Amino acid sequence: MKNKNSLLFFVLLLIFIGCSKDDVNDPAVIDKSANLKALGFSANELVSDEKFTSIKIEIVYVTGFEPTQTTLDNLKTFLESRTFKPDGISITTRAVPSSNKAPFDINEIAQIEVDERTAYNVGDEIAVFIYFADGSNEKDTNTKTVLGTSFRNTSMVIYGKTIQFLANHTNNVERSTVESTVLNHEFGHLFGLVDMGTTMQTNHEDSESKGHCSVTNCLMAASFQFGGSMMNVIDNNTIPVLDDLCIGDLLANGGR
Ligand SMILES: [Zn+2]
Ligand SMILES: [Zn+2]
Repeated sequence: MKNKNSLLFFVLLLIFIGCSKDDVNDPAVIDKSANLKALGFSANELVSDEKFTSIKIEIVYVTGFEPTQTTLDNLKTFLESRTFKPDGISITTRAVPSSNKAPFDINEIAQIEVDERTAYNVGDEIAVFIYFADGSNEKDTNTKTVLGTSFRNTSMVIYGKTIQFLANHTNNVERSTVESTVLNHEFGHLFGLVDMGTTMQTNHEDSESKGHCSVTNCLMAASFQFGGSMMNVIDNNTIPVLDDLCIGDLLANGGR
């Protein structure tokens, strides 16, 4: 009788351990739904402290395409200057092997996110996934290369190989300046600029490029997403900034 009870207890214990292990390790129980929305959906959640008081940024890079420390420092400075996150902004970086899928279409990048992303919104912390890819966008041409794409509410890809090529073939421009320009520009899209989740206060949308700003040299000018034209406008190795109209939109949506 005693032995039978012991056995039952042992079996129950095993089941209990089994369950708690699953809860921690089974990806199926992580609620990813809040991070699978359309671009611009989390604009307010990212810039204000109403729902989320901190941001966790997960940068996953293919070996050889790690962003520079200066790039990471610049990103944190930019985010702190435009958002209200009293509990802080944390950035983690992690190397992964090549997917061997370059050049990429955005569906391939989305699948890589499914495979590699580990950080999702939890409690009052919002998570952002950034993938530094070892290749280019498959739609690149000789005159137009895409440097980055925000493809969901908290997801972006940075075409690391394209950025390295540009930086290596341009005099007097640091790779970190190019990386920072592209990262800040893509965060502008996650922040809902221009009129893509953050309501435009006065008309400054580029009539030829949805989601971009018509003000020359604003960070959200369409030219900063593309390689060929970008190098013509980065003067003195300086990262472009948001103009007053874009900042005004962020202010109206709870940011700064
Ligand atoms: Zn853009
Ligand atoms: Zn602007």
